[in-house]
Amino acid sequence: MSSLFPTYQRLDIHVKEANGTHLTDEKNQTYLDFISGIAVCNVGHRHPEVQKAVEEQLNKVWHVSNLFHQSIQEEVASLLVANSSGDAVFFCNSGAEANEAAIKLARKHTKKHKIITFTKSFHGRTFATMTATGQAKIHEGFGPLVNEFVYLPYNDVESLEAEMDDTVAAIMTEVVQGEGGVVPGTESFLTTIQKLCQEYGALFIVDEVQTGIGRTGKPFAYQHFNLSPDIITAAKGLGSGMPVGAMIGKAFLTESFGPGSHGTTFGGNPIALASAKATLQIIFNKQFLEEVNAKSVTFNNRLAEMLESYSVVKEVRGKGFMIGIECGEYQAQLITEMREKGLLVLGAGPHVIRLLPPLTVSNEELAEALNIMKQVFQELKVTI
Ligand SMILES: *Cc1c(COP(=O)(O)O)cnc(C)c1O
Repeated sequence: MSSLFPTYQRLDIHVKEANGTHLTDEKNQTYLDFISGIAVCNVGHRHPEVQKAVEEQLNKVWHVSNLFHQSIQEEVASLLVANSSGDAVFFCNSGAEANEAAIKLARKHTKKHKIITFTKSFHGRTFATMTATGQAKIHEGFGPLVNEFVYLPYNDVESLEAEMDDTVAAIMTEVVQGEGGVVPGTESFLTTIQKLCQEYGALFIVDEVQTGIGRTGKPFAYQHFNLSPDIITAAKGLGSGMPVGAMIGKAFLTESFGPGSHGTTFGGNPIALASAKATLQIIFNKQFLEEVNAKSVTFNNRLAEMLESYSVVKEVRGKGFMIGIECGEYQAQLITEMREKGLLVLGAGPHVIRLLPPLTVSNEELAEALNIMKQVFQELKVTI
């Protein structure tokens, strides 16, 4: 028997080494990795500049706690603030913790309780973030949940307008739903959330744990629209694999999170932040993001064109390098066949194949992935 809790259904791949866009297993088989540790390794595995920054930090200090000033925290916070609508950062260790902090801050600041989130959202696995997650299967067996969370259909302006009133503390949403099936929020929906929050004195929280840190071609995905959220949460891509999360909030919120109000032992750990600093210096660069946009637009067009003739494909959608292929009941089979041909991709919900290549992926690697996908879809077409 394994000595691990069986919380994960793991792939039969024993990873020995990771480098750039590639994983190598113990049988020396190499894979093209379009999972990127679930949107974490946005600059590829072990990017040399990030690795160097972590190695240098290992030789200075590993951990002292937040009882001390640590200049690396100010440096990473400055980068996040300079590239978002926020003014101050709280560091933690994961996406769930960043969202947990956002929910706590929203209740404390507004002195209200009700939080609106959306069906098929995903916000984490702690009690409050699990409750915020609008999916019954995530809640199953864990009740009673946290009080006063309300779920509305995503991209539905009417139901939101009908529900909104001045008892709402916050509306929390992903800009592109990730786990729920790679569903981009519409401009009218997202701008309505912001407008209603302003009108009724609620906070507008965007969960950028998956969409943030360049994944969609902007530092944060909300920047594709004319939006200025009060709170932004980030994690996955922030540390390139070192565990780190961040809640970024506007200046007016700082008074509600004073000394003793919230905390974490590991949050803001200097090794994780050395990784984050090097990662952000690469990604929050105009030229880098222009290249991500150019590569992803070309790839997404070619992908949509290539899949046009396959009737199992209902839709190709997404933003930047967060791409979903809606393919109904064949999802699991297609993912397995891609893996057998050396391409690692993941699911999002039961019917969508999700592609999350590193932002540093080369045009050759993108062409190789297209080629594998084409073979797999072609073989399926012949058999059905
Ligand atoms: C992954 C994810 C989370 C949870 O992050 P953890 O680091 O696993 O706690 C929260 N929100 C979104 C949108 C995510 O994709």
